[in-house]
Amino acid sequence: MLASLISEAEKIVFFTGAGISTESGIADFRSPGGIWSQMKPIQFQDFMADEATRREDWRRRFYFQSQFDQAQPNEGHAAIARVMNGPKGAMLITQNIDGLHQRSGIADDRIIEIHGNGTRAACLDCETPMSLQESARHIEVRDQAPRCEECGGLVKAQVISFGQPMPQDKMIASVKAAMSCDLFVVIGSSLVVRPASDLPLVAQQAGARLAIINREATPHDSIADLVIHESITHIFLRAGL
Ligand SMILES: [Zn+2]
Repeated sequence: MLASLISEAEKIVFFTGAGISTESGIADFRSPGGIWSQMKPIQFQDFMADEATRREDWRRRFYFQSQFDQAQPNEGHAAIARVMNGPKGAMLITQNIDGLHQRSGIADDRIIEIHGNGTRAACLDCETPMSLQESARHIEVRDQAPRCEECGGLVKAQVISFGQPMPQDKMIASVKAAMSCDLFVVIGSSLVVRPASDLPLVAQQAGARLAIINREATPHDSIADLVIHESITHIFLRAGL
């Protein structure tokens, strides 16, 4: 059924969340028992206001990055990459910040990372990039959270923190993609974090079919054309994609 929806579609949007990465061994930040239930998330305004908070944010960033580096893209990532690199028009919107989709072979310009990317950092004022390695060196050498070489602004990993506004350009690009596809496939997202969770509705109202693959029920299951509550890896293996 998933395979036939995909084969009948001409323009597909995949929308992925934490569920696809948990099958690569990456912890889900928001789930009960997840990282944010053990460790209070850092609010954006506290990062801006306080040096000790920035140092803690960086400490966590390097820890998460080491987890991401050890993880490997799984069959779900690989199947999405095969469809995306095939003849159909396809875009990927992801809530994940782990870079596993890129590592599975999908070009950067076909991925909209609505919560940012934890493998990159940049100045919050002038957007000059700084690698995580360079950021780590700054902390070690200067004993201070990294600051921009160009303008002296604060450097932060390019992830959207709690309390930080969503990037408008990415939301606009996501809505555009959702409105122009004829199949919207949700994979591993429980569709509770707004405004991203509205995207399946946008797609459906514009005429797309909607498939939801997630271990748990989502608020949009009742309106979807296909709902599967199983392991993502198994679904893709079974669908032969
Ligand atoms: Zn700067």
